[in-house]
Amino acid sequence: MNMAEGLIFDIKRYAIHDGPGIRTTVFFKGCPLSCWWCHNPEGQSFSPELMVWPDRCLKCRTCISACPNSAISISNSSIVTERGKCEVCGVCTAKCSANAREIVGKIVSAEEVMAEVEKDREFYGESGGLTASGGEPLAQPVFLHVLLNRCKETGIHTTVDTSGYMERKTLAKISSKVDLFLYDLKMMDPKKHKLHTGVSNKPIIENLKMLDKLGKQIIIRFPLIPSVNSTKANISTMCELVSGLRNIRRISVLPYRQLGVDKAKRLGKGVRIFAKPSDRMLDQSLRLIKSYGFAVNVGG
Ligand code: SF4
Ligand code: SF4
Repeated sequence: MNMAEGLIFDIKRYAIHDGPGIRTTVFFKGCPLSCWWCHNPEGQSFSPELMVWPDRCLKCRTCISACPNSAISISNSSIVTERGKCEVCGVCTAKCSANAREIVGKIVSAEEVMAEVEKDREFYGESGGLTASGGEPLAQPVFLHVLLNRCKETGIHTTVDTSGYMERKTLAKISSKVDLFLYDLKMMDPKKHKLHTGVSNKPIIENLKMLDKLGKQIIIRFPLIPSVNSTKANISTMCELVSGLRNIRRISVLPYRQLGVDKAKRLGKGVRIFAKPSDRMLDQSLRLIKSYGFAVNVGG
């Protein structure tokens, strides 16, 4: 990859939940976190991956003979892929007429991405524009910076949807090109955070304070997951932290929806399934957040 190239897994046009107005959302591939509840598990790995849809498969066996690594076989009338042998070459995906196999993730240039973003410029108005999401867009800081720069040069609003986990210096540099951060706060207890996401929440909290000091516009995103971060103590601690900052007035609550479960299975990854929050739990959480004076909404 050269400086102005990045690895992405999707571009979604006419997005209305990824920041203000109508947006084009670019999903960066690769994330330093490995959240147990991730709704975009195809965004975790920093490499392209093979995704398989068994329900679309016609059992024609074309992929078995096509695979140069003998990674595919049939067992109990099902097509089985040995992930350890698969080199993600894409030969089987090209041969499969049922679209039951797909390589997720491709390297794209900033020009290609901007061509997509520019297509909907007339719909953006004052508020809409580009949202960088993922995965973790800040994990590809050079590519992200190039895209944000191009947007700013051409007057397109920029939003970055982030876990906040990155080197402080790099974030500070990129922040000058970001109009709005959608900033995840998952849980306040450092040990629980490390257990459930694989990383410490210390740099995430320090980076949030830094962005606030810089006067950046920030909306907190709180994924509500029963038995993980739904306690009154966790939500109160989060609200107290954010109340101590100067510029943050809104918290978006994202109720866990099991959206990543099927995708993780198609990637051959282990899956953890949590209960969805009940209406009562969601209502109590929203009321608790509001009691701290925040504007609160569900989703987006
Ligand atoms: S080529 Fe596609 S449809 Fe045919 S067996 Fe393989 S996965 Fe199934
Ligand atoms: S991507 Fe390539 S190596 Fe992997 S299963 Fe398909 S043909 Fe085989």
